[in-house]
Amino acid sequence: MTMVETKRISSWVNGAAHPSTSGRSGKVFNPATGEHAADVDFLSVPEIDAVVAASKAAFPAWRATGLSRRAEIMFRFRELIEANRMELARLISSEHGKVPSDAAGEIARGLENVEFACGIPHLLKGGYSEQASRGIDVYSIRQPLGVVAGITPFNFPAMVPLWMMANAIACGNTFILKPSEKDPSAALFLAQLLKEAGLPDGVLNIVQGDAVAVNRILEHPDIAAVSFVGSTPIAKYIYETGTKHGKRVQALGGAKNHMMVLPDADLDMAADAAVNAAYGSAGERCMAISMVIAVGDIADAFIEKVKERLPKIKVGPGTDPTAEMGPLITKEHRDRVASYLENAPTEGASLLVDGRNHGIEGNGYFLGVSLIDHCKPGMKCYDDEIFGPVLGVTRVSSYQEGLALINDNLYGNGTAIFTRDGGAARQFQYEVNVGMVGINVPIPVPVSYYSFGGWKASLFGDTHMYGPEGIQFYTRGKVVTSRYPDPSTSKIDLGFPQNR
Ligand code: NAD
Repeated sequence: MTMVETKRISSWVNGAAHPSTSGRSGKVFNPATGEHAADVDFLSVPEIDAVVAASKAAFPAWRATGLSRRAEIMFRFRELIEANRMELARLISSEHGKVPSDAAGEIARGLENVEFACGIPHLLKGGYSEQASRGIDVYSIRQPLGVVAGITPFNFPAMVPLWMMANAIACGNTFILKPSEKDPSAALFLAQLLKEAGLPDGVLNIVQGDAVAVNRILEHPDIAAVSFVGSTPIAKYIYETGTKHGKRVQALGGAKNHMMVLPDADLDMAADAAVNAAYGSAGERCMAISMVIAVGDIADAFIEKVKERLPKIKVGPGTDPTAEMGPLITKEHRDRVASYLENAPTEGASLLVDGRNHGIEGNGYFLGVSLIDHCKPGMKCYDDEIFGPVLGVTRVSSYQEGLALINDNLYGNGTAIFTRDGGAARQFQYEVNVGMVGINVPIPVPVSYYSFGGWKASLFGDTHMYGPEGIQFYTRGKVVTSRYPDPSTSKIDLGFPQNR
């Protein structure tokens, strides 16, 4: 019998694939088939230290690289991503499970961040005040931090790394990425494209690993800042541990996103939006809508409209071009999501559509779409971030009652209101304690020239990710006060300088 060797996925250091000698690795599965498709080799702590040293060594030359050259590399990177979009989408689909058309969507939204970073010469412009005092000019500049790191989740293996790396690198930092060990190949693909775009070796390094790598990144004295996206308990841990070690940290966590439907809303449009936002990417999106708040007496009609749409959703593997929704990331996660369906009736909720009856054969981690009515705070199906293709409905009698549910929720990532009443929408935007708000828009992920971030347990730190706040996060400000006086006017004066 011949042994078939499993594919090995490595790290990426100094512009080349980098093997590991740690002997530790993680299994990467094809979620659509359940096949053990590859092993990702984890770096040891001394190997990670060597990567940090390589990043540190690459920093001075990269920092000194002109802004036009950095922009030129970003423009080329943009073109290369565009040219390889479908290949990257298929790669994402094979490890994550989302269908290629959805993966292409995440690439498009990631690409926006590269396009934003193409404007780096403009983004790093400082302020200048001539004659702040007599013969004195004052100006501000922003400088890179040095070596910065990003730790990313499984659910957007290309987009979230692009949220971070485009701005971090364009600002003049060197960047270390620790991708999710569940789908680590997309990050390597991006690293190869950046090299092809002309990025000098060592400016982007990729460390494959699990919590061991994360902990070393958090403790390493030569890493100045950490960006994190993942679940809330880990985000909190990253923020607390990273800041304890003197780092600048932005840590984005989980979510429970509510969509409030007012009685005046167009129910067909609201039903389409809820279905798209709840079941796209099998609900494995931090901006997925997982709870609809039906206000007044619309719940029965709204639910009927959602139920009409569900049988038409084609669940299947990413290799089937007609499939609209793929499997979940792992068997364990699929079973965990299914456990909410088991529990919902015992908690007093009504399981209207049960995704366990999907009829797909094989060992893939599939779960069909599910709909649960009469969810309430205190029930696990309401309180937890399920992160699967499960939409809950909760019924309230008034807008105020719905708003209180959202504002009392642990999370504050995204939310949406569906209404034709501009005044109600304006009031909602004003009153809701959530970082990203959609008005008749179910997934309000900001465009790349605004910043992305939730409130409450959805973000630890002060700075949102990408856009203007991303530039702020990856740089620090310096203010220069300068004069070139006539030396003959120089004299001793011990008083505190005043601007006259
Ligand atoms: P996760 O928290 O399990 O993993 C995220 C990263 O943390 C991975 O790189 C992982 O290797 C690392 N990690 C996991 N456990 C760790 C530990 N004990 N110690 C140190 N590091 C650890 O998240 P996930 O399952 O990959 O992603 C899904 C979660 O991410 C969901 O909660 C989702 O809402 C959230 N998410 C949030 C956003 C956002 O922008 N707020 C975006 C995408 C995903």
